[in-house]
Amino acid sequence: MHRTLLLAIVTAAAVTACTRTPPEQQIVNDAAAALGGRDRVLAVKTLTIEAEGWNGNLGQDMTPEAAGQKFLLSGYKRSIDVPGGRARVEQTRTPNFAYFQGQAPQKQVAGVDKDVAYNVAPNGDATRASNAAARDRRAEIYHHPITVVRAALDPAAKLTNPRTSGSERVVDVTTAGGLTFTLAIDSATRLPARVVSMSENANLGDVAIETGFADYQDVSGLKLPSRLTTKTDTYTTAEIHATKQTVDGDAGDLAAPAAAASAAPAGGPPPAVVTAEQVAKGIWFLAGQSHHSVLVEFNDHLMLIEAPQNDTRTLAVIAKARELRPDKPLKYVANSHHHFDHSGGIRAAVSEGLTVITHKANEAFFKDVVSRAHTMVPDALSKNPKPLTIETVDDSVVIKDAKMAVELFHIAGNPHADTLLMAYFPAQRILVEADAFSPGAAVQPYAANLLENIKKHNLKIDRIVPLHGTIAPFSELAKTQPAKTN
Ligand SMILES: [Zn+2]
Repeated sequence: MHRTLLLAIVTAAAVTACTRTPPEQQIVNDAAAALGGRDRVLAVKTLTIEAEGWNGNLGQDMTPEAAGQKFLLSGYKRSIDVPGGRARVEQTRTPNFAYFQGQAPQKQVAGVDKDVAYNVAPNGDATRASNAAARDRRAEIYHHPITVVRAALDPAAKLTNPRTSGSERVVDVTTAGGLTFTLAIDSATRLPARVVSMSENANLGDVAIETGFADYQDVSGLKLPSRLTTKTDTYTTAEIHATKQTVDGDAGDLAAPAAAASAAPAGGPPPAVVTAEQVAKGIWFLAGQSHHSVLVEFNDHLMLIEAPQNDTRTLAVIAKARELRPDKPLKYVANSHHHFDHSGGIRAAVSEGLTVITHKANEAFFKDVVSRAHTMVPDALSKNPKPLTIETVDDSVVIKDAKMAVELFHIAGNPHADTLLMAYFPAQRILVEADAFSPGAAVQPYAANLLENIKKHNLKIDRIVPLHGTIAPFSELAKTQPAKTN
C-alpha cells in the first residue's frame, strides 16, 4: 500500500516533468497567446499593410556614417499571402536629397513568389530579380510577428537556444522550409519585439537584418505592430507607420508575372567585360560595363583609380591592368568615394596586395570593411586574408615621379558625397571623377559644385574621363550649367 502510493507520486512527478513545455516552445506559445491566440494566428491567410514612412539610402549617403538621406514613401502597400509564401510591396518614393536620378517620385513594385523575386517597372514590364533578392524577400515575409510566430508554431520548425537578454526573451527558429530567424519577445507584454535574420552584402559581408515591432494595435482579433523599423547591420533601411492594416482581405494577385517567372534565375553578378583604351601616354580607361576604372603608369609601378562593384569586376580590372603592363607591379588603388558601388571591390584590391588611397573620412569605414566576416558568401579577401594598408587624403595630394604626375583633390561641398576625390593629370589636361558628372545622364545635380571645385583649384581640363559614361570634352561639363546672362 505504502509502496504503491510512493510509486504513484513518483509517476505523477515524472509525468509533470515530461509535459512541462520546454522554454524555447514557451516563448513561441507566449508570443502566440499575446498576438491573439494560437488558433487565430494559425488561421491568418493574408495580411495587408498600408503605411507611410521612409527608406534609407544604404551605402549611398554623404559619408559612411551618415543617415540623413531618405526616400519618403507614399502609397505604400505590403501584401502577404501567408500560407502561399508570396509577398509584394508597392510604394512611391521621393528623395529628400539631391538624387542622381532626379527629384521626381518613383513608383516601385517588388515581389517574391516562393523562389522567384521580381520587380515591375512603372510601364508594367516585369523582370526577374536576383537570387540574392529572392533570398532576402523570402526572409522578409517572416519579418512580421504573425508570419514568424506562425512558422515557429509549425511542429516541423526547430526551436533552439532560449535565452533572456535585457527585457527580452529570445529564441532561434529554423522554419520547416529551412530559413533561420531569431525571435525576441518583450518579457512583459510577450509581444514580438524583433526578428533578425542573416543576409550577405558585397561590402559589409555577413549582415544582420533586423525588423523591430512597436505600437501594437488591435486588428481583427489580433495584435499587429503599427510601427516596423528595419535595420541592415547598423543602418536603418526602412521605417513604416501603418495607416491601415487588413487581415484576410483581398490581397490581390501576388503570383510572379509570367515574364519574371519564366526568366532564368540570376546567380551572381554578370561576368566582367573589361575594355582598355589608352587616353594618353601612361593612362588607360578600363571600361566595358557600368563602372569604370583608370590605370596610371609611373616609373616603377602602377596605380589603379577605382575598385568598383564587387570581386568579379575588380579582379577582372586588376587582371587587365597587369596584362597591359606586366613588367611593373600594381601597387595602389585610389578610391573615388565610399559609395558601395564604387568601393565594393576594395576588399578584392586588398586581397591582391594593393594599398588603398582614399579620402580621410573613409578611413574607419574601410578598416571595418576589410575586417568583416564573409562566411555566407566567401570572397577573395576571406579566402586570401591580407592586412589593409591605407593612405588618406584631406584636401589634396600630389603623386608624381619622373614619368607621371597626378593630383588628387577632395571635391568639397558636393551634394553627392562628402568623401569624393577627383584625379587631375596636369600635363595631359585630363580629369577623372565619379558621379559628380556622368556624361549623358539626364540630370546633373552635382555638376555645378564640380565646376566650382575645378575653378577653385584652377584646373586646366580638356577631357573628362568619367567612371560612369563615356569620355567627354570639358565643354560637355560646362554645358550642364545655364549660360550666364548679365
Ligand atoms: Zn556615388
